[in-house]
Amino acid sequence: MKLYVSADMEGTAAVASWTQVDPKNASEYPYYRDLMSREVRAAIDGAREAGATDVLVNDSHSSMRNVSWDALPDDARMIYGNRKPFSMSEGIDASFGAAFFTGYHAGVGEADGMLDHTYSPDTLYDVRVNGIHCSEALLNAAVIGTYGVPVVLITGDRVTCEGARAHLPWIETVVVKDSIGRFAVDSMSPERARQAIRAGARSAIANASRARPYVFERPIALELDFLGTQNADFAELIPGVDRIGGRTVRFVDDDFRIVFRTFVAAMRLGASANAPV
Ligand SMILES: [Zn+2]
Repeated sequence: MKLYVSADMEGTAAVASWTQVDPKNASEYPYYRDLMSREVRAAIDGAREAGATDVLVNDSHSSMRNVSWDALPDDARMIYGNRKPFSMSEGIDASFGAAFFTGYHAGVGEADGMLDHTYSPDTLYDVRVNGIHCSEALLNAAVIGTYGVPVVLITGDRVTCEGARAHLPWIETVVVKDSIGRFAVDSMSPERARQAIRAGARSAIANASRARPYVFERPIALELDFLGTQNADFAELIPGVDRIGGRTVRFVDDDFRIVFRTFVAAMRLGASANAPV
């Protein structure tokens, strides 16, 4: 079975602040980058113990240049670098048997979800699809589901894992920490977290036949609430995107891949409006 791994960073055990996950922070980031990389490796090791073969890792945090190559098995491949059209789901296709989300975090606005945000914390206030509040996990599960691939494992804090299970009841979860508000955690040790992730990954692959691809009902209606009207001013410039409120835009299509690409475009264009005028 081919395994796809989308690796984020905030949900790594011990992480509790933006500075720890900021590649520009020379004092804190290198340590936490190493913890992230080793959690990805633990997930791969567990998956292979249960029969996964080929592995593709998509580095999915910030610059998307975080996971250390030295932490990966030498036959794993990795998508590295940012500005990818499918972002945290770049590289997925129907040849994969299952997907993992490691180091994921709560969606914007979710209480006791450490560093809660959805893509751009300075730009997006809420993301809904068909009226359902969406975290990054749910959005990317739906991209991956478009290709018939189920997400079978998520690791992160408790709110992240419980949020995913509410929509993906088959998913194996590894809770590595409990968040106390937005900027504090009660965490397992990194070593124990890696052991738990390895065991969870093994179980997730062993039970993958129970999992289902996640898909939204059609037509698929995306609504984005921005923090400011300036963000919506830019996002509504995209053909087919309607301004339905001061801060809110809407886009509808039957193909979630098109909806997701429009989401990425609207989020990036909207974020560009935050530059000083
Ligand atoms: Zn991230």
